[in-house]
Formats: sequence, structure tokens, C-alpha cells
Amino acid sequence: MAKKTSLFSKIPAVDKVLHALGNDDQLPPLPLPLVTDLVRGKVESLRDYLNGGGTEIGEFDEIVSEIKAEIFSLYQSRIHPVINGTGVIIHTNLGRSPLSETVVEKLTKVGQYYNNIELDLGTGERGKRGGFLEVALANLIESEAATVCNNCAAALILILKHLANGEKNEVIISRGELVEIGGGFRVPDIMAVSGAKLVEVGATNKTTLADYENAITERTGMLLKVHRSNFYMEGFTHEPTTEELVELGRERDLPVVEDLGSGAMLPTDSLAPIPHEPTATEVLNRGVDIVCVSGDKLFGGPQAGIIAGRADLIAGLKKEPFFRALRCDKLILTGLQETVIEYLNRSSGKQADLPLVRMLSLTVDDLMPRAKKIVKALNNDCVSIGEGLARCGGGTMPKAEIPSVTIDIAPKGMGLKKFARLLRDRELPMVGYVAEDKYRLDLRTIMPEQDADVIENLKAVLTESR
Ligand SMILES: *Cc1c(COP(=O)(O)O)cnc(C)c1O
Repeated sequence: MAKKTSLFSKIPAVDKVLHALGNDDQLPPLPLPLVTDLVRGKVESLRDYLNGGGTEIGEFDEIVSEIKAEIFSLYQSRIHPVINGTGVIIHTNLGRSPLSETVVEKLTKVGQYYNNIELDLGTGERGKRGGFLEVALANLIESEAATVCNNCAAALILILKHLANGEKNEVIISRGELVEIGGGFRVPDIMAVSGAKLVEVGATNKTTLADYENAITERTGMLLKVHRSNFYMEGFTHEPTTEELVELGRERDLPVVEDLGSGAMLPTDSLAPIPHEPTATEVLNRGVDIVCVSGDKLFGGPQAGIIAGRADLIAGLKKEPFFRALRCDKLILTGLQETVIEYLNRSSGKQADLPLVRMLSLTVDDLMPRAKKIVKALNNDCVSIGEGLARCGGGTMPKAEIPSVTIDIAPKGMGLKKFARLLRDRELPMVGYVAEDKYRLDLRTIMPEQDADVIENLKAVLTESR
């Protein structure tokens, strides 16, 4: 019993820990209420531990340093810039498409000051939210009309709610297109949320036009095509062409919708040695009534769901009460608007000046001088230049690999896992990948202006590993 009491007396008082932390000038600037909460939680968990029969409890300094580790890890978990050395261009864990400096400048100003988001400056009356963006997007995509909402998943739900409801709530889709779009979300689940009834046709690898045709009833609301953006099907496969599906839709008076997801704006095969990814314009030219794409995948803008196609259907979508729940805020609308302006300004000749387009178009020759500079600056025999393969990522073009240049590190006196961890723990965290017993950083996804930070991070961690 006496032993137990003495154990409890080792649990420090919250104030005492806070005081010790207050004297630590290495502590990250985490807001005090969050620090206090962590300390309270730790003290409580120690008490629970002893109450549950635990018998080992550290000294005061140990407890404080455990709390410090928790403070650091909570602090690091806030959203802040990261150096992406993975070679995955649209990395969903790292925020998908980075925005260009010009785009960010514009949205900073719009965020900082009042703006005309819903004011018609001509009349002084209430104006159309995002009206300019809709005009510019329709022009860029060459569609009758266009609008935007939160993301592509939301766009799909909105489209389904509008076109497949009430007596005509059935949506026909091929079994080969019931894809999981990432993060555990599957197209059937998203469709269920909308209230639409899924009518699956065909087999995983083969769906014929007759399969669609035979499934049409008076309850059918629309035909849906979902682009297989994150996987490939090869071998014994068949599906009707979009044109055939469109013709069927016209005959039976049913709208045909394509969820394109990845949404390239420029021909990907002209930017990099990779396959051609269909664009929204191409899909609409095949006769599809409505297409939806992600704003932050191959479009290279902020998170958004871009919807384009027939003017009457777009107008209908915008009248849905649910549209209000999916509307984008001023920063997103500005980011998208400026991205579209960049595409439109460059559509004759020069490439759009967007990070995504730049990263896709870089050649090995473009990257090599940077690699040499970094290796020279580090002047360490465990650092060398390697060949890598970059990828589009973000669930787009899984087979496309772009030859790239890497900085390869074989640290001495430290495992690769620990090495990677220390680089993630930096003030400007850095994420690479491990292959062939080396830690590798693909320069394609590292912004050139971050090269100095790459050198600084590597220098610091290599010093530790010695
Ligand atoms: C990525 C993707 C989506 C989801 O897009 P978000 O903008 O992330 O909501 C939907 N459909 C397809 C085919 C996709 O590839």
C-alpha cells in the first residue's frame, strides 16, 4: 500500500509541468490552451495507469520530455508547407495541386479585403456569385455552360440529385466503373447518399450497349459513365464507346453524364512522355450532356468540382437547394478564376504557367543542374544523383511514369526509417521515399526555390547521422 501511495506521489501537478515547459525555449509555439490540455491528459493517463495496476512510472524529467514529444507532434500536425520529394505530382496527402504564386497573390488580396463576389459593380445591385468564373470556364472548356461546387464528389451527388430523383431515380452504370475514388469512398456509396438507385449492368470486364439498353425502364433517370482514372483494365474487356452511349441516351431521352475526375485541361501527352488523359472538352465533344472534374487534380487549381455541359441542365443544377450547401468560398472561387485566366491567356502557343504544368513538362536535362548543385553543396560521399520515375498521382494515370532525377542518400550510422523521420521532423518537413536501400528525393516535385531548404535539411540530418 505504501508503495502504491509513493507511486501516486510521483504524478506531477499540472502547474509544475507547465512551469517546467514555460522555461523551455526549445518548445514549439503551440497555443497555451492546447499545451495545458496535453499536460492534463498526460497526468490523467498516469493516474489511470496506476489505478489500473500499473507499477512503472518515470521521473519528473522523463514525464516532461514525453509531454514535450507530444507537444511537438501536435504542433507538427498543423497544416503547413512540406517539401514533396516523393515524385508524386498530385499527392493527395500533400494537398494535391500546388497553386501558382500569381494565383495565391490574387486570393490573398481577395481574402484580406472586401470584394465584389455578389455585387454587380455596374448596377450596384446584388450580382451573380462566381459569374465571371462560369463564363470563363465555359469558354475554356468550350461548353454551353459551366459551374463549380466544393469538389468532384459533391458535383456527382448534385448531378444525381437533380437528374435521378422521384419516379425516375434509377441510374444505369457499368459494373466495371463502380470505382473507389480514394480515401475509402466508393462511387456506389456516393450515389446512395444522393438518393439515386444504382442499376449495375454488365460484368466487371465486359459491358455491352445492350446491357444498358435492357436495363432502361420508365424509372431510369440517367446514364452514368465514371472514368477509370485510378486503375487500368486490360485483356478480355469491352465497353460501349461514349458515342454509342450518347446515341442510346438521345434515343431514349435520357441524359448521359460522365464523371471524369482527373480532369486534364491540356493534352497530357504533349507535356510529358505519358498517355493522353481525356479532357472535359473531348468528353463533351463526344456528346455527353454533363461532365464533372476535380479542380485540384490534373486541372491544377484549388479543390473544387467543375461541372460543364448543357446550359439547361447546369441552370437546373444551380436551382437545387442542395447546391447552396456545396458552394465554394471566395478564396476557392478566386483561385479557380485565376487558374482559368492563366489557361486562357496562354491558350495560344505558350504553356500555362502553373506548377502542375511546369512539373509535368520538366525534362531530365532541366533537373540535372539542380541535382549537381545540391550534391556539390552537400559534399558528402553518401549523397549521389540517381534516376527516378515520377508519377501523376492523386488517383490519376496510375501507369504513367515520367523519367526523373533524384538525390539519393545512403546515410551512415543511421537506419533509413530514422533518417526519413528526422527529415519529416524538420521545421520545413521533407518527404521522400525509400528504394534500393537509399533515401531518395525526386527533384521533379520539389520547387526550385526550395532547393536551399533541401540542402539545409539534409545537412542538418546528415550531421546527426554521423
Ligand atoms: C478523384 C475522383 C473523384 C473525386 O474528386 P474530388 O474532387 O476529390 O471530390 C470523383 N470521380 C473520379 C472518377 C475521380 O477520379
